[in-house]
Amino acid sequence: LSAPTLVASEDSRLQRRARLRDVLEERALGGLLSVHAPNIRYLSGFSGSSGLLVVSEHAADLFTDSRYEEQAAEELDSGVELHVVRDGLFSALGEVAERWRGGAPIGLETAHLTVRDGVRVREAASDLEWSETEGIVEALRARKDAGEIETIGRAGALACAALEQTLGLVREGMTELEITAELEYRLRLAGSEGPAFESIVAAGPRSALPHARPGPRPLREGDLLLLDFGAVVEGYRSDVTRTVVAGRPADWQTAIHSAVLAAHDAAVAVAAAGVLARDVDRTARERLVETGYGEYFGHSTGHGLGLEVHEGPSLSHRSGATLEPGNVVTIEPGVYLPGRGGVRLEDDLAIGEGDARLLTEFPLALREI
Ligand code: ZN
Ligand code: ZN
Repeated sequence: LSAPTLVASEDSRLQRRARLRDVLEERALGGLLSVHAPNIRYLSGFSGSSGLLVVSEHAADLFTDSRYEEQAAEELDSGVELHVVRDGLFSALGEVAERWRGGAPIGLETAHLTVRDGVRVREAASDLEWSETEGIVEALRARKDAGEIETIGRAGALACAALEQTLGLVREGMTELEITAELEYRLRLAGSEGPAFESIVAAGPRSALPHARPGPRPLREGDLLLLDFGAVVEGYRSDVTRTVVAGRPADWQTAIHSAVLAAHDAAVAVAAAGVLARDVDRTARERLVETGYGEYFGHSTGHGLGLEVHEGPSLSHRSGATLEPGNVVTIEPGVYLPGRGGVRLEDDLAIGEGDARLLTEFPLALREI
């Protein structure tokens, strides 16, 4: 692996806040109150779990409690003012509200604000005008800069390395939980900050459950084994799925694996800047319909990936998004035969100006273990 680069430099965060201020101006907002930890981390560098961030025209204020005083001081750049709050983050808003007063309304992240906290905001600064917004920072986050893409690539490489080591250890008789433990242990040893999400390790007929939770079932000869997991580097996630077979594959297993692989490759080939996200989904889906498995592919073809494992743009038939340079998306078609087993193949793809680059490189052929 290459040497780490500084992903979230002060410069990149300054640029993000400048882009946010442009959007706020377009929407006639005087600022935005962010309550969502990944948005706060993206804009300010602060990675704690308890925080509020207000980005206004001329200032950025971060509120946290005393547990995070040192961490926040270390992580925040000089453009963000730190407020360490003694009683309740929301009540402290009122003390600083003076600097936002008299301007345009302040946006609230309604997708992340509880009803109770919405009341607290309005009580703390009752003479300010608040406006409900949705997805403003998420839209900025969907276009990654080069440092972010490199970091997701590192998370992809860690995931692939841990998978290679784990598959070398898997034996018949091991339970899904034991295989999960090996996988997550290897991820940590390789340098992952944790699992990117609850890992899915599903053996035999359970591989037909797209979101199976690992359990005590042992791996048996002839089983498909589906592993869907990821690594975390500086908060950025990878998300990879491979499906292998214990012993020699049956014809039906080879058939669904080839069908999914064809759908995967077709979707990867079509995904590029300027392409509608729903057309990438349609490409994978049509390929599965052609091979007779269309009805066994229920979920969407992919999703954006970054500080969260599911973010924009969504590669679903309902998506109105057009792929843009800087998007990082998964491509993950699957076929699930109830009671028998399923195959999913998932890779992470960075959309460039004229090309797209795989951030996860692991052989796609059906592997016998
Ligand atoms: Zn996944
Ligand atoms: Zn995924």
